Amino acid sequence: MSAASPDSHLPELLTCDVLFTGVGGGFSPGGVVVAGGMIAATGTPETLRASYPHAREWRAGAVIAPPPVNAHTHLDMSAYEFRALPYFRWIPEVVIAQREKRGVAGALAGADELARLGVGAVGDIVWQAEALAPLLARDDLPGVLYFEVLSPFPERADEVFRAARATVEAARRLERPGGPRVGLSPHTPFTVSHRLMRLLTEYAAGEGLPVQIHVAEHPAELDLFRTGGGPIWESMRRLPYPDTFAAVIGREPEPDLTPVRYLDELGALAGRPTLVHMVNVTPDDIARTGRAGCPVVTCPRSNTHLECGVFPWTAFAAAGVEVALGTDSVASGESLDVREEVAFARLLHPNLDPRLIVRAAVKGGHRVLGTRAPVLRRGEPWDEGYVWSSL
Ligand SMILES: [Zn+2]
Repeated sequence: MSAASPDSHLPELLTCDVLFTGVGGGFSPGGVVVAGGMIAATGTPETLRASYPHAREWRAGAVIAPPPVNAHTHLDMSAYEFRALPYFRWIPEVVIAQREKRGVAGALAGADELARLGVGAVGDIVWQAEALAPLLARDDLPGVLYFEVLSPFPERADEVFRAARATVEAARRLERPGGPRVGLSPHTPFTVSHRLMRLLTEYAAGEGLPVQIHVAEHPAELDLFRTGGGPIWESMRRLPYPDTFAAVIGREPEPDLTPVRYLDELGALAGRPTLVHMVNVTPDDIARTGRAGCPVVTCPRSNTHLECGVFPWTAFAAAGVEVALGTDSVASGESLDVREEVAFARLLHPNLDPRLIVRAAVKGGHRVLGTRAPVLRRGEPWDEGYVWSSL
């Protein structure tokens, strides 16, 4: 029987594997007592049985928590067909091959899908400026729209920065209460020149704009910063790109240089940007991320499908780094449902406390985006959406 049924006279005890109320660390197993459509108590099933011996008990599902947050996606790719391929095949065979499917229509369809899923909030990377206005007009899409900027040529940095700033300023005038805010995304440390990276991150820090940067997704990023060569360099050379990688980053590659150390020494971490992926990192990178206070978004399904490796979640947690979850685009993540991402993460990280993963999907995501989760506590209305039924 549904907890919200009008004929529910007795309280009901809903149990689950993991309960996250929105505060604290969570309960495993967990339970919620619902009476007359309102939350009466939360805790472990054992303590709730003792306090509510007459409650009718039933298992609600694997997880009870506020709606999860999709902290990193590319909604404008929502019309793409999903294909799992190694990273260096996926870019030409999926991203480029299906590029006519990228656009405003896909972004709005993705936003509809997130609304249907009841997402808590979204962090969306916006590639085309024309997608900003229609997404900002939505009142069912709390979160951040990160306008993506990409240019590896330092001599063009000022011009590209001025154009990006004009786009962001125009978009910010369209922000509405309850809707998404505008942020910035310098694409990656190897597709954005050192000068442009500094201009963008300093501007964002000064304006209080949220920032996301894709960092250390594929192991070849480490080769690039160590040697200036490797498979990323080979693929970039087929595009308009400076003659040397040193020209992009404004320094010589060296054996101990990593994308994270580079960004840190450039000053790009000072405004606490969110770092997305962070799969191929060193212990020093993890320590730097913790010291800088940067949160991290992990996209477990995308990283697995593109054969990029496994996010070292335990080490980031030990360094006190705030972790959130994202699906990346449907082209690599397969769906926009973060509950599926959580289920996958539980298989991928069997030694990690599942409460930590659920907390990351809710609280971590809201921390990244600056939004707030509802709290499941006594006196608050019960919502069937708190049961993550797809798990
Ligand atoms: Zn991404």
